[in-house]
Amino acid sequence: MRSRVFAKLLVAFLLVIAATTVTLDLTLRRDWENSLLHEITGSLTQKTRLFAARVQHDKSVPLAQLVKEEAGSAEARATVIDASGKVLADSDANPQTMENHATRPEFIAALHGQTGSNVRTSHTLGIDFLYVAAPIPGGAVRLAYPLASVQEAMAQVQKRVLWASLLAVLVATVLAGVMAHSIARRLRRVVLFAEQIAAGNLSARVAESSTDEIGKVASALDHTARQWEESFTALERSRSELETLLNSIQDAVVAVAADRRLQWVNGTMLRLLGRNVRVGSPLTDAVRDPGVLRAIEESISSHQVRSARAVSLFPGRTFSVTAAPMPGGGAVAVLHDITEIERIEKTRRDFIANVSHELRTPLTSVQGYTETLLDTVSPSDSRVREFLEIIRKNSDRMARLTNDLLTLARVESGEQKMEVQPVQARALLEDAITNFRDLAQGMNLGVQLEECPPVIVAADRHAIQQVFSNLLENAMKYAHSGSQVSVGARETAGGAEFYVRDFGPGIASEHLPRIFERFYRVDKARSKETGGTGLGLAIVKHIILNHGGKVRVESQLNHGSTFFFTLPGSADELPLEEIHDKFTVS
Ligand code: ADP
Repeated sequence: MRSRVFAKLLVAFLLVIAATTVTLDLTLRRDWENSLLHEITGSLTQKTRLFAARVQHDKSVPLAQLVKEEAGSAEARATVIDASGKVLADSDANPQTMENHATRPEFIAALHGQTGSNVRTSHTLGIDFLYVAAPIPGGAVRLAYPLASVQEAMAQVQKRVLWASLLAVLVATVLAGVMAHSIARRLRRVVLFAEQIAAGNLSARVAESSTDEIGKVASALDHTARQWEESFTALERSRSELETLLNSIQDAVVAVAADRRLQWVNGTMLRLLGRNVRVGSPLTDAVRDPGVLRAIEESISSHQVRSARAVSLFPGRTFSVTAAPMPGGGAVAVLHDITEIERIEKTRRDFIANVSHELRTPLTSVQGYTETLLDTVSPSDSRVREFLEIIRKNSDRMARLTNDLLTLARVESGEQKMEVQPVQARALLEDAITNFRDLAQGMNLGVQLEECPPVIVAADRHAIQQVFSNLLENAMKYAHSGSQVSVGARETAGGAEFYVRDFGPGIASEHLPRIFERFYRVDKARSKETGGTGLGLAIVKHIILNHGGKVRVESQLNHGSTFFFTLPGSADELPLEEIHDKFTVS
């Protein structure tokens, strides 16, 4: 790096020196030469004029001697020329042998009464001369000054400039070397810093005290590194807090990267897997449970939360799996142990089923005897008849309650197997209407089919009739006499959505979220009076869940209610085991 910086600096310096040298040589030397020549011309002109005056007035000395004396005092060659250009006297040569000077420019100017000057190479001596001629009556005098000394002086100046340039080159080389060393050393520190940051050492700093460009770059880099270090420390802290938190919870947590490799597992998950789980290895190496794998896979591919039930992750334990997609791809799954909850739930269901079952026989007996007594008691004995009627009414209610409890226990546990098969949505709706037409007429109500798409759904026909029966019974119970109860279906992305609508009193919004809970009743007194058990909608919900569908209700006070449920299209039909797998937990 140093040699490269050095070479660049040196080239720059040399260019500057060369440019300076050339500029000095071209401009300064020429200017200086011109001004020198100008000065010599001025002084020679003075001397020529004095020479001309002497030639005119001093007749005491012969011309040949006069020119010698003038040449000596002016340090130049002196010549006297007549008007025809013939040399009359010359300090350096024999006038007889000298050619005619009529064509010399300075002589021509002098003949015109001016002082003429000219620079040229002497024919006689072959060196550059400055000629200055001044007029005298009948000719001109001329002084010729050899320019060799000027040229020598100029050559001297040029030599000095060259020496100065050479010295400058030398100084520049040393300077470039020193500067290159310093810059390279500072840049090397920046490179070292970058390498340390890349290697993960965020505490590295350049620490440059200078304020030049490199110093500014260094302090900007230091600032960035400081901020990175702070952010990284904060990130690291929150990561370890999160890790501690996730390790301390009872639920097992596993994070899977987008390439389906293990990214992280918490302590509970490690204990569950019970073998050396390696982060970075494929998920399928560590986990074989289809529920866990399916939830994670579906969550990654659909970018949505997915739930499943895991029964083979750990012998004798059941887990509910919730997999949620991670922003950068992959998913994180939380496994909650529901073995105990399921056990208690099952005990509760079994208990209810057993009690209901046990109550059935005595209840049937009570109902039978009450009927017999009612048949035998004399019509005049109204008090006994009234008591018997109360017994019959309540035993009927109890029979309905035990029946509903048994049905609910069966559908909740999955014991009541759904015989799901493709069936036309219209057929389901028509069955429902046929079953209820007479009852509706008896209650002065109309049952109408509003709309139905040609969709085939996957449904247990018998179970769905029970759903319609519960919904229609409610609708007719609450619809105003003389009004209509409507049923219909609409096509959805995954199958069809059915509905049962009445124009009764409606349900206040605060009750809607809990309406499908067992024994939840909006108006207890009215429900009892109309023979309701509070279980009808709970049964509806569980039958629909067992089909892989959903229930919901829309209602407004005094504007009636609409109960909706969805059924999957027959193409989406799920294997029965999967349906049970999915929903017996809820
Ligand atoms: P119930 O046997 O009491 O009818 P459900 O589970 O069928 O029990 O219904 C729960 C409660 O929801 C009912 O007690 C009633 O208050 C309310 N409900 C159900 N259907 C309707 C409806 N169509 N209009 C108004 N309220 C209704």
